[in-house]
Amino acid sequence: AKDFGRNQAVYFSQTLDTEIKNKVRLEHKLRNAIVNEELKVYLQPQYDATKQKFVWAEALVRWIDKDEGFIPPDKFIAVAEETGLIHELGFVVLRKVCWYMQTYQEQLSAIGIEGIAVNISARQLFAKNFFEQAMAIIGEYQIEPRQIEFEVTESLLMENAKQAVEVMGQFKRQGIKLAMDDFGTGYSSLAYLKHFPIDCVKIDRSFIKDIPEDKLDMELSSAIIAMALKLGLEIVAEGVETQEQSAFIHSQGCRLMQGYYFARPMPIEEVLLLASVKA
Ligand code: C2E
Ligand code: CA
Ligand code: CA
Ligand code: CA
Repeated sequence: AKDFGRNQAVYFSQTLDTEIKNKVRLEHKLRNAIVNEELKVYLQPQYDATKQKFVWAEALVRWIDKDEGFIPPDKFIAVAEETGLIHELGFVVLRKVCWYMQTYQEQLSAIGIEGIAVNISARQLFAKNFFEQAMAIIGEYQIEPRQIEFEVTESLLMENAKQAVEVMGQFKRQGIKLAMDDFGTGYSSLAYLKHFPIDCVKIDRSFIKDIPEDKLDMELSSAIIAMALKLGLEIVAEGVETQEQSAFIHSQGCRLMQGYYFARPMPIEEVLLLASVKA
């Protein structure tokens, strides 16, 4: 039994060792990718089912490494948050988004896209001077604040609700739009929503993906939509993949949808092509 225990300890410490090495390696690679401008910013258009056109888009960071290929954000955003690289990464994404808006404003507007949403991590939102630095970038590109939206996750808001409300209020007063991301996955009650200065809730994909098979998910998403409508909030359904899901969500009063059924995340050049297809 003793030997077994010792072997396990060795085994665990080796796994831990490789895990740490992998993380350090990933951090190093990510730092280089940021410095060498290897990160791309894709856009996923959001569709308005009532207007029957795209009206907005979400920016999603992409990392295609020359050796390892596509590295998904779910793998490196956490590392960026742990190491503090998220600050630089976040500004790279915001700067790129502002540049897109400045450079392609008319073309995007011709498709219907009037603004772009940017994901913001807890560490960014709570960092000293984040508000000033973000507003400086937006000002530098002469972007109208109402063309930018920040998406923050529900769990982030609950982590430090008081400070979150404060910083979000600063952006809100400047005219930046605010969305609560991944809604329904955290522990906040719907009533809690009214404490945050948000314009929009994004219903998490987990409520959408099993519609219409999962009747409970249909009930839950209807309830979320009804409550958000009562509070006067915009609602975006995430991860809509089928016509059936789109029809159901729309019938419940949610107009805005994001998902592979309408458009995948894509480079801006491809977004601009959506216009010529429609024209
Ligand atoms: P998220 O903010 O919830 O973004 C939506 C995710 O759902 C994206 O994954 C998107 O590609 C995916 N998605 C969209 N439509 C569908 C669909 O119909 N079906 C399925 N199965 N998936 C769909 P992605 O791009 O891999 O990003 C994962 C997460 O990484 C994001 O989740 C977000 O939390 C984070 N992230 C991405 N870009 C950034 C960024 O620039 N900054 C920060 N802080 N986080 C980011
Ligand atoms: Ca998001
Ligand atoms: Ca989300
Ligand atoms: Ca998510």
